[in-house]
Amino acid sequence: MKQTMPIEGKFELMALPYAPEALEPVISANTLGFHHGKHLAAYVNNLNAALPGSGLEGLSLEEIVLNTPGGMHNNAGQILNHNLYFSQFRAPLAGNRPTGRLAQVIDEEFGSFEAFKELFAKAGATLFGSGWVWLSADKEGNLKITQEPNAANPIQHGLRPLMTMDVWEHAYYLDYQNRRPDHLAALWQIIDWDVVATRYEQE
Ligand code: MN
Repeated sequence: MKQTMPIEGKFELMALPYAPEALEPVISANTLGFHHGKHLAAYVNNLNAALPGSGLEGLSLEEIVLNTPGGMHNNAGQILNHNLYFSQFRAPLAGNRPTGRLAQVIDEEFGSFEAFKELFAKAGATLFGSGWVWLSADKEGNLKITQEPNAANPIQHGLRPLMTMDVWEHAYYLDYQNRRPDHLAALWQIIDWDVVATRYEQE
């Protein structure tokens, strides 16, 4: 995660760790430009505008998500979610899959990486409306797939978020229109499993 604490009282729009066209054709530079430069930027601006006088100044994104309802929760949650989302990608790679201990735990808990992908895709396809599908770890290191509505994050269930797919229409509509399952299937090519494994090992 790039930043969860405010700097001089304000949260900043995270910098993308790759060029705008780096994820093509899975995610176009056009989609990335709107998603990061407009949607995420709006959440950052909205939260910063609401912070003064709210009593929440100086709290981390996680603390705001866990301790506030309403608009503050929604904007902080969307910043936290998008920071995790945008920092987990790399250029498309054929046969992309996890390695090492994380790969082993995925095999143990879901049967195989292919079985895991199938369950994750089903969770993404069946989440009604806007939200996020997550791979998280519990305190024992067991893996969980959860559907979170709107701006929710797995930390609200005591889980540690590892990897996510954004199923808000703004994440895919310019490239895939209504074909959410096609978009989600393509995302497997650009998941940076080194980033996900690092999140898993940080306990
Ligand atoms: Mn989004």
